[in-house]
Amino acid sequence: MHTPPETTPVYVKCERCGTRIPEQSAIEENGLLLCGECLVADVKRDVSRAEAEAEHQRLEQCSIERDQIRRQQRRRALLILCVCVTGLITALGVSHIHRAEPVQTRSFKSVEHPDMVKSMLLIGIYKYKSEHGTLPESLKDLVPRYLSAELTGAFKLFDYTVLEDDSYLLELKKKTETLEENQREEATQGEKL
Ligand SMILES: [Zn+2]
Repeated sequence: MHTPPETTPVYVKCERCGTRIPEQSAIEENGLLLCGECLVADVKRDVSRAEAEAEHQRLEQCSIERDQIRRQQRRRALLILCVCVTGLITALGVSHIHRAEPVQTRSFKSVEHPDMVKSMLLIGIYKYKSEHGTLPESLKDLVPRYLSAELTGAFKLFDYTVLEDDSYLLELKKKTETLEENQREEATQGEKL
């Protein structure tokens, strides 16, 4: 019996699952001969892989956007902080400018404030007399108990004289006298050196 070759059914094996399938129903996919079921499974896998990839990209995009938002928020927060700090510094500067001048005790220049020194001397003399019952012989006797040693330098600005009737004179010397005295002092110091 002769059988024509075109009618002979040709079978192939699915290269994925090994099922025997007629050649005409096998489908080539990426160089492999597959049965219908394997092809469907492949397509499903490809689709779900593509979906997973899309989901992954979506998540990545989300995280990039979140990062951008966070960066923007940080920048905004930093800007607000800068504005606050600048405001604070300005406020401090303004309050510094308008602050009350501190009482300068250390840099007090007695020569520039003879009236103030005189008041302090008067108070010192008063205190000395109320404790000792007598007037100090010299202004130097007031230091340091009744007067700060820092004021010793200002004594030369004054004439202090104890009078017979237990009273005294405390007068500010004239500027020329003081000047001459200063010059004399400088000359003496020069000689010493
Ligand atoms: Zn198969």
